[in-house]
Amino acid sequence: MKLHVLGSGSKGNCAIIESPTTSLMIDCGLTRKAQKTRMSDLAVDEGKIRALLVTHEHNDHVKGLGVCLRGMHCEGEMPIYCTAGTRENTRYLATYENFSKIKAGDSLTIGDIRVDVFNTSHDVAEPVGFRFTYVGDQPDGSSKIIGYMTDSGICTPMALEMLSGCNLLALETNHDLKMLKNGPYPSYLKARIASDKGHLSNNQAEDVLGKLLGNDLRCIIGMHISQENNSPEIPAREIQTLLQKNDHGAKVVIAGQNIPKTVM
Ligand SMILES: [Zn+2]
Ligand SMILES: [Zn+2]
Repeated sequence: MKLHVLGSGSKGNCAIIESPTTSLMIDCGLTRKAQKTRMSDLAVDEGKIRALLVTHEHNDHVKGLGVCLRGMHCEGEMPIYCTAGTRENTRYLATYENFSKIKAGDSLTIGDIRVDVFNTSHDVAEPVGFRFTYVGDQPDGSSKIIGYMTDSGICTPMALEMLSGCNLLALETNHDLKMLKNGPYPSYLKARIASDKGHLSNNQAEDVLGKLLGNDLRCIIGMHISQENNSPEIPAREIQTLLQKNDHGAKVVIAGQNIPKTVM
């Protein structure tokens, strides 16, 4: 499977997991225009998208829902999967009909992709992350297991378990603590970001990664990088150092807010 990150960060999140027969969209926080342009940049076939999975109700993850789903010619048809808490707190989803409720601990299969749902820790009703496993029979050398977690102040025990053994890990590495501390945000916002229900810092992400450096891990993609309190070079360098220390050969990619990327 491949992971296409169309955009990642506080201005909008949208990604697509693609297997030989099935694509799943994760979050819908870009404008329809950006979504379309970036899918075309990465040669993503929109017609293969079988479902949309929503991690939580923050605007940067759901603000494109209405327009994008209409644009994708599937309003009322595109199946949406999210937790009850996310649905209750997302206006657009409250009346959406083709909706399936998921919760942490669930395991479901869509096409040839199994999705395991785990809880994250964030200041919203019922946030989740996902582990995707390819269960089809056309192995093409790309990733078979992909872990995906953003917007979490800590890595919950269930998340740690679900993120282990992955070939590709998409993990939040949101802020540099020093930059956050000395940065322009008001103190309440700094406290929120650094809290257990905020976002994973670079250091926290490295701690988590340190526990996940298994033999099967081939690629790490740093996600949800803050434009004010981080710089892509910092997590890239720190993760490289961690890998070198552990004599691990995984590739490191940093996702962008505006530059779409495909990893596999
Ligand atoms: Zn976010
Ligand atoms: Zn959030």
